[in-house]
Amino acid sequence: MANPLLEVDGVVKRFGGFTALNRVTLHVKAGERFGLIGPNGSGKTTLINCVAGSLRADEGRIVFDGTDVTGLPPHRRTRLGIARSFQIPKPFTSMSVLDNLGIPLEYAGHARSEGGGAEAREILKEIGLDAKAHLRPAGLTQIEMRKLELARAMAARPKLLISDEAMAGLSSAEVDDILAILFRLNAQGITIIMIEHIMRAVMRFSQRVVVLDAGERIAEGTPDEIVRNPAVEKAYLGE
Ligand code: ADP
Ligand code: MG
Repeated sequence: MANPLLEVDGVVKRFGGFTALNRVTLHVKAGERFGLIGPNGSGKTTLINCVAGSLRADEGRIVFDGTDVTGLPPHRRTRLGIARSFQIPKPFTSMSVLDNLGIPLEYAGHARSEGGGAEAREILKEIGLDAKAHLRPAGLTQIEMRKLELARAMAARPKLLISDEAMAGLSSAEVDDILAILFRLNAQGITIIMIEHIMRAVMRFSQRVVVLDAGERIAEGTPDEIVRNPAVEKAYLGE
């Protein structure tokens, strides 16, 4: 592939005697909308943890934007432009929505005093959370909490945004709301990996999809190819 933004090559991750990822390879192009799917427990979040750096791959190599990041700590990867949202939101509960963006903004190089507040407000506006800037996270609805996760990821001004099940449990209209945000961020040039269980959403969003099953990559293709792939159907039937 010409100039991939992210190259994951032969990544293995074991937890004790259990192999959660078994030589997984995938390449994501700059500007791409990329879907990562698979049944529960297939290794999607583990792979993202290895890419973002909260887990260290046992084998294999991860290259981001030309830099080998395999052994780098998470904050170095953040500075290079990798951001992710968490499947289970982890806001700072004692801070306002606005202040929750402070730490990732600092990672991105904004001092808190100089313009960080304006930048944070701009991101909240982009995500549609500006009216909630002064609430504590506990006062947010479920979709607003998901938006805060995305806003926190965006505060690091990433090149790559990895969204880990940002739509789980949302209504169909709310799913469309999150989809529209991700399309908009992608149109601004941000590469997006969408991990999602909601097939309608991931198939509409993605230009290319990789399927994991039990830690192995079992398929890659366009959404059309993936929905017609018998191996994919079989993996989901077993769920
Ligand atoms: P997915 O995100 O696709 O649902 P995960 O990556 O969360 O799957 O999990 C893949 C497998 O690895 C599961 O069997 C899970 O129980 C196991 N696993 C994930 N994290 C850990 C961990 N920290 N310790 C032990 N096992 C783990
Ligand atoms: Mg997961």
